[in-house]
Amino acid sequence: MAHHAEGPNDRGDIILFPTTTAGSLPKPEWLAEPNRLWAPWKAEGEALARAKRDATVLALKLQEDAGIDIVTEGEQARQHFVHGFLENVGGIDFANKVEMGIRNDRYKAMVPQAIAPLRLNGRVHAFEARVARAHTTHQLKFTLPGPMTLVDTIADSHYGDRVKLAFAFADLLNEEARALEADGIDVIQFDEPAFNVYMDAVNDWGIAALTRAAEGLTCTTAVHICYGYGIKPNIEWKGALGAEWRQYERIFPAIAKSPIRQVSVECVNSRVPLELLKLLEGKTVQAGVIDVATDRVETPDEIVRTIESLMAVVPKESIVASTNCGMAPMRRDVAEAKLKALGAGARLARERLG
Ligand code: ZN
Repeated sequence: MAHHAEGPNDRGDIILFPTTTAGSLPKPEWLAEPNRLWAPWKAEGEALARAKRDATVLALKLQEDAGIDIVTEGEQARQHFVHGFLENVGGIDFANKVEMGIRNDRYKAMVPQAIAPLRLNGRVHAFEARVARAHTTHQLKFTLPGPMTLVDTIADSHYGDRVKLAFAFADLLNEEARALEADGIDVIQFDEPAFNVYMDAVNDWGIAALTRAAEGLTCTTAVHICYGYGIKPNIEWKGALGAEWRQYERIFPAIAKSPIRQVSVECVNSRVPLELLKLLEGKTVQAGVIDVATDRVETPDEIVRTIESLMAVVPKESIVASTNCGMAPMRRDVAEAKLKALGAGARLARERLG
């Protein structure tokens, strides 16, 4: 049975090709140093909390004005999508970081260590989720790191078993996800960039851990799998993956069988053969129609053509138009122009292809 990708928007309409982003937006220069990941904050204490709030409200306004239907808080209150979550997890030693190769050694990073049973030190994202909910009537999406990506970003000096560590994280993610749902979040998206790096582990335990993280949620659930931000190590890694990127072929069948309802994937300017999306039968696809690895802004016509090519492999009612990945490291003016292009492209697509 055909179903629309999202429920009614705030105007009560059912729309084709609703728009969203992968999640993050650049931060204003008065909140954090621009154009970089892991940017240090520009304020502290109460002043930082006020700056995060202001940036969150601004991110919502810019998305709404650009025609983004399912908005996010832009990850304005977190320094990084993984460490924003880890900061409130007890049992982790941040003081004694160790060097670890992550994403199968694509990056070397200094990572914290799990040294005791993990637990949440209270809520993680209540502040920005509630600020965002209070200031938009649009559908609101919130991103959390997935269990496999968390496991790939910290050293384990306690559990001695990656699967046990993953399920420990899944329990904590589930606790926070349920609380976010109670805060009024409509879509909870788990970010799993590790999913196209460790394909065997995805099938062995990655999807089981993700399913545990989403257990009991009644809001829409999504997973974002990706080939990474448009930063140098990712661009080099992608260059080495060959003419066709077929990693998804090995994990989509298992994702299709999972209860996760939406899958967010890179599409435009990617070497992923679009026919692989057929393996996601029954899922809504948040398809990347905006490239975050280039500052060139897509035209609405180009976005229509990308959506049209997606319609050959995904029912049009199951397409959400999105960005390939987060826009955190981009220039603000470029990110804003891309948001506007996304809104305009989706409107044009509704006229031409609806
Ligand atoms: Zn991504």
